Amino acid sequence: MQGKVALVTGGARGIGRGIAEAFLQAGAQVMIADLGGAGGDWKYDLSASSELERTAEELSAMGETRCVAVDVTDADSCATAVGATEQAFGGLDVLVNNAGVVASGDTESFPEADWDRVFAVNTKGIFLMTRAALPALQQSSSAAVINTASIAGKKGIPRMAAYCGSKFAAIGITQSLAAEFAPHGIRVNALCPGMVGTAMWLEHLLPANATSPADKDDQFKEAMARLIPLGRPQTPEDMGQAAVYLATAANVTGVSLTVAGGFEMN
Ligand code: NAD
Repeated sequence: MQGKVALVTGGARGIGRGIAEAFLQAGAQVMIADLGGAGGDWKYDLSASSELERTAEELSAMGETRCVAVDVTDADSCATAVGATEQAFGGLDVLVNNAGVVASGDTESFPEADWDRVFAVNTKGIFLMTRAALPALQQSSSAAVINTASIAGKKGIPRMAAYCGSKFAAIGITQSLAAEFAPHGIRVNALCPGMVGTAMWLEHLLPANATSPADKDDQFKEAMARLIPLGRPQTPEDMGQAAVYLATAANVTGVSLTVAGGFEMN
C-alpha cells in the first residue's frame, strides 16, 4: 500500500485501529476518523476526543497518521472528513467504513430510538461516507471501499434484530455499490468479523458478571475458545490483515469476507 492514502472511520480504537495499524505497516498514509466525544449517550462509552488524539499520536510512530472528528450519520461531517484527508495527503485511495454501534435486547421492549441509531450509523453511515468520498476515489487508480459488516450480517441472532438487519443491509449495499462502481474501477468489499473483544463485546454483549476489565477479557476469551472452531476469539490484527488483502486484491469486488475462525462459514 506504499503511497496509498486511507481513511478509516471508527479508527480511534478496536477493529478500526487494527485496520489503521495494518495499513501503516503496509506503507499507507492513514487518516483515522471517529466521533471524538460527540456521540452523546449510548449503551457503552463511544470514543472520546482524547482517545482519538492519543491513537493518532501512538500510530504516528508507525507511519504518517492524522485524525479528524466525524459523525458518519451527518452528511456535512462526512464531507469535512474527506476534505481533511485530501488536504492532509493529497487524495484518497481506500475508504474503510468501519464505524458501528451495537444494541441488543428483546424486541417487545427494544426502543425505537436505538433501532434508528443502529441503522443510522451501521447502514446510512456507509452511504453518506461513500457518497462524500466518491469524487476523490474516482481520481485514484486503485480505489477501494471496505465496509465492516459482521457475521451478524450472514445469519440471524436472537435479540439482535436491529444489529443483524443493519449488517445484512451493509452486505447488500456492498454488493450494489460493487456492481455500480466496477465500471469506474472502484472495488467495494465487506469485511465480516467474528467475535473481537472490543468495547461492543466487553461493555455490552458479554453478560455482566465480571468486575474488572481483566476479568472481562479473560471471560470473553474463555467463552470464545469454547465456541470458535479455531479455538480463539478474533483480534483487531486479524481484521487488519484481511483489510490489507481487500484493499490490494485488484480483481476482487462484491465479496463479504468472513474472518471468524470457522464460527460462520457462509
Ligand atoms: P468499538 O466500539 O471499539 O469501535 C467502534 C467505533 O465506531 C468507536 O470508536 C465509536 O466511537 C465509532 N463510532 C460510533 N458511532 C459513530 C459515528 N456516528 N460516527 C463515527 N464514528 C462512530 O467496536 P469495534 O468492535 O471495533 O467495531 C468496529 C466495527 O466492527 C463496527 O462496525 C462493528 O459493528 C463491527 N463488528 C465488530 C465485531 C466485534 O466482535 N467486536 C464483530 C463484527 C463486526
